Amino acid sequence: MLDLKTQIGSLPRINGKYAETLKRLNIETVEDFLLHFPFRYEDYSERIPIDELEKGMSATVMGKVIESKFVRTWKKKMRITECYVSDDTGMVRAVWFNQPYVSDALSAGKGVRLSGKVSEDAKGLYFSNPSWELSSREPTNTGRLVPVYPETEGLTSKWIRWQMSLIFKAGFEIEDPIPNDMLETLHLPLIKTALQYIHFPKSEAQFEVARKRFAFQQMLTLQLVSLKVKLAWQKEKAVSIHFNEKFIQDFISELPFALTNAQKKASFQIFQDMKKSQPMNRLLNGDVGSGKTIVAALACLEAAKSGFQAAIMAPTEVLARQHFESLSKLFANQDFTIGLLTNSYQLTNNGKSTRPELLEKIKGGEADVIIGTHALIQKSVSFKKLALVVVDEQHRFGVKQRAYLQQEITQSNDGLPGKIPHLLTMTATPIPRTLSLAYFGNLDLSVLDEMPKNRKPIATEIVTRLGAHKVYAFIKDEIAKGRQAFVIFPLVEESKALSEVKAAVAEHKRLSKEIFPELSLGLLHGKMKSNEKERVMQDFKDKKYDILVATSVVEVGIDVPNASVIVIEDADRFGLSQLHQFRGRVGRGKHQSYCFLFTGSTTQKAKQRLGALVKSQDGFSIAEMDLQLRGPGEFLGARQSGLPDISMEHLANVRLIEITREYAGKLLGKDPTLKKHPLLAQEISRFTENVHLE
Ligand code: ADP
Ligand code: MG
Repeated sequence: MLDLKTQIGSLPRINGKYAETLKRLNIETVEDFLLHFPFRYEDYSERIPIDELEKGMSATVMGKVIESKFVRTWKKKMRITECYVSDDTGMVRAVWFNQPYVSDALSAGKGVRLSGKVSEDAKGLYFSNPSWELSSREPTNTGRLVPVYPETEGLTSKWIRWQMSLIFKAGFEIEDPIPNDMLETLHLPLIKTALQYIHFPKSEAQFEVARKRFAFQQMLTLQLVSLKVKLAWQKEKAVSIHFNEKFIQDFISELPFALTNAQKKASFQIFQDMKKSQPMNRLLNGDVGSGKTIVAALACLEAAKSGFQAAIMAPTEVLARQHFESLSKLFANQDFTIGLLTNSYQLTNNGKSTRPELLEKIKGGEADVIIGTHALIQKSVSFKKLALVVVDEQHRFGVKQRAYLQQEITQSNDGLPGKIPHLLTMTATPIPRTLSLAYFGNLDLSVLDEMPKNRKPIATEIVTRLGAHKVYAFIKDEIAKGRQAFVIFPLVEESKALSEVKAAVAEHKRLSKEIFPELSLGLLHGKMKSNEKERVMQDFKDKKYDILVATSVVEVGIDVPNASVIVIEDADRFGLSQLHQFRGRVGRGKHQSYCFLFTGSTTQKAKQRLGALVKSQDGFSIAEMDLQLRGPGEFLGARQSGLPDISMEHLANVRLIEITREYAGKLLGKDPTLKKHPLLAQEISRFTENVHLE
């Protein structure tokens, strides 16, 4: 009997090298190994007579080895094992490439089982690289529903199956984190049965129900976490802010545009929340350009007009500065002091301030609206009466991040004893409904699903390398008309950042020298210091550059109304939502705008995927598509989602989300600290540990 906590490396058949490899997959104990699930199954369960084989089918046959030989092809330097197997009905050939040991194992006379795909050549039907096993062995790799595991270098599914069978043979005990009665009501198997079904299913129904069970378990954990966060928030108190309806209406009527209905509705919901003496916790979910800023500004206006302070946190300094500028303009007729506090800036709308002076104004309550980066609500900054915090998020979506943010806000020096600020979070990109249900069950939701009128769709085109020069000519024309252009460069993995920066630098040089020698080009990348970035952005806004070459740092909300063209290089390397974000950098002014998606990939799939952007300008439907194509892990940024793949596919299952929420509610209702459900409590801490911040 194995103990679940046994280090996997200490099992007799697993040597140090394998233990290392497993560690890379985050598998350290027997339990981790058991929870390493297949992502699909090959159906080799049905054995058929050899004479019923047909080209193209996946099948299992059983027979005797007649002849087995090992040949070397001189031309291709390949080593081929050829083996003839026969049963009562006929004979078939099996071929393996570069696996010389197979011919030793399968000597004439041995009984063997083969599973794989049937091909055909001049010599007739044959199995190419089939899975095989001596028929004296229990079916593990052939003759059953064979699990296929996510593999990593040096670790095959075959090896995993073998180890898994050894562990099941040795036996283990595992306690079920989910209460038995709950499983019974839902007709879900116990954890031990479910593990058996996952790794050694006898039928499709078995692994289906097992996957359902684990999806339930993971979703239940997620909902428990989210509900706990919600309950903690609801225990807090906040200042009730009176809704100055007339004042707000007058302010709105003086805006240069009419609010969309969605903006009106969201603002109204926010005012209602702020009236309560419980803190608001609302997510403003809207597409690029849907006008989230003005909604946030109205909330700040309401707070400041009532004599409180409001803070806006932006993910970057560039954005903080932009918010500072738009709010300074919007509130030009108000008697407000607006502050900008980041690492590089300390400004107010009514004169220069040194950092200590600004901090003093915040502490003394003279600063009404304060804009900054995340540092703003950390403990070093004290407020006098902070009643509202707006967080303009980029992708800080996860439940854990939220818990952390809430904790920070709860502990911020807001100057209001016994109270905490109302919280409004804004997304940078729309989140599909099912995902927001699963992930933000603890938040109230306002959706800006309507774009301001007068928006012209951004003409979007997929361009192969060959078409590049036409696009460059087009850019020259646009610039001659006084417009500006972005060229975006992918920066995909952090670890590659340095070489990508090099690539961006090289591309900047190439474009400057060879393509646009007569124009001025700026360069923006993630490794620049924030004040350098700031200067480049500002210079671009001030039209000192015609073209801005940038890595994906430009993604978040930068507003340059004069820019009318955006080129995205290697567009297939980005997710659809991110591409849509980039595209949103243009079309922010009155000019017809254009987006060119450069791609070297000519596959139908890549074209189809990018084609979604050509067809649609609707961020919500693009996000939905992105979610379906890439799965929530990629969509959210895998590290932040904190969900294993198995429940990913179930995220779209609204019913599952609802059921787990209901059960999570019941559980916490009876047992708020989960004292009686220690295993579930453990699941929760495992869940939160697995989600990393930044
Ligand atoms: P996002 O939701 O991406 O943050 P912004 O708040 O930056 O969008 O708004 C984008 C642009 O649209 C801004 O220039 C803003 O002034 C303008 N805008 C916002 N609401 C409206 C509206 N109802 N009608 C017309 N323009 C609007
Ligand atoms: Mg914005």
